[in-house]
Amino acid sequence: MTHDQLSPATLAVTAGRPPRVQGGPVNPPVVLSSTYVNQGVSAPGDLLYTRIDTETWHPFEEALAALEGAHHGVVFGSGMAAVVAAVGDVPSGGAVVVPRHAYQVSLGYLDDLAARHGVDVRRVDIADTDEVVAALDGADVLLAESPTNPMLEVADLPAILTAARERGVRSVVDNTFATPLGQRPLDLGADVVVHSVTKYLAGHSDVVLGAAVTRDDDLAAGLRAYRTLHGAIPGPMEVWLALRGLRTLHLRVERANANAADLARRLAAHPGVAEVRHPSLPDDPGHERAAGLMNGFGGILGLRPRGGAAAADAVVAAVRLWVPATSLGGVESTLERRRRFATESLTVPEDLLRLSVGVEDVEDLWADLDQALRSTFS
Ligand SMILES: *Cc1c(COP(=O)(O)O)cnc(C)c1O
Repeated sequence: MTHDQLSPATLAVTAGRPPRVQGGPVNPPVVLSSTYVNQGVSAPGDLLYTRIDTETWHPFEEALAALEGAHHGVVFGSGMAAVVAAVGDVPSGGAVVVPRHAYQVSLGYLDDLAARHGVDVRRVDIADTDEVVAALDGADVLLAESPTNPMLEVADLPAILTAARERGVRSVVDNTFATPLGQRPLDLGADVVVHSVTKYLAGHSDVVLGAAVTRDDDLAAGLRAYRTLHGAIPGPMEVWLALRGLRTLHLRVERANANAADLARRLAAHPGVAEVRHPSLPDDPGHERAAGLMNGFGGILGLRPRGGAAAADAVVAAVRLWVPATSLGGVESTLERRRRFATESLTVPEDLLRLSVGVEDVEDLWADLDQALRSTFS
């Protein structure tokens, strides 16, 4: 069977395995070697030196490419390394279109390009298709996210990716939040998809890793060249851990999504809650679009407790099971008030808590949130 005949849940388990041979291992070996025996003129594909390529990257690259429907996977030392490589060369005076609520370090990188190279960074409401399409005129790159971090705005990806293609704008989609199980942006017209593998793909909060995938041979060659020239490479153990995590991606995402939707519904009726954001809620601004475009509504919730930023901080201090921590997509549930970071976008409400819902029993998660909200509210 070829990859495109298998469902994503099966691919998560089967892709990137070694060939089935008598006495062979079921899992790919981890090769710990910085250099390879190589003399004379090497043939294409011969391994030479681990900054350039190593076989320990390939199984993860193949598995992620299979899940995203890509032809090439390129693993990086972090999600940010993948984002920077995928944005690529933007000429001085060029333009990049980005959601105003994109990942804050991606925005920080683009601000740096603006300061040093006069790049025009066009921050848009990614849910407003007309605004995005207008901003694409004369742009070089679209760096899209949907749902956005942390506001969970949902883009009309097919429309904006088509508009980018028509205008010759290279499109990059950061698919960290949705995962390839939630949506496959390459099928919708994206040139490159990037991931913070650190989050759902690896899934256990024990590794920092990134990846980019594409169907385009030239873009793939450019990503690999960037990785080699900048040394933006992962270590072999990190990639092995990520592949181990990827094997249960479908189980973790299904459970996290179900837990998040259940908690969103209960929180919406809680007296200590001013607002809940989750695309599963019928009155959420992103609901209809997410229902049409995505498979599942994701495991990230936005929560604004009654009582403002002080109450939000009190909730974070009062939880016992939920872990007060940044990052997301691990098996354990975490939460944080995003505006505690001075760099967070000022259009994110001061009192917004971002909850990354894990795979624990939902009743335990609910009981802990409920007691934390009640202790700060009453
Ligand atoms: C965390 C994150 C990144 C950056 O990834 P790192 O692995 O931390 O470098 C990029 N995009 C999104 C949406 C993220 O959540």
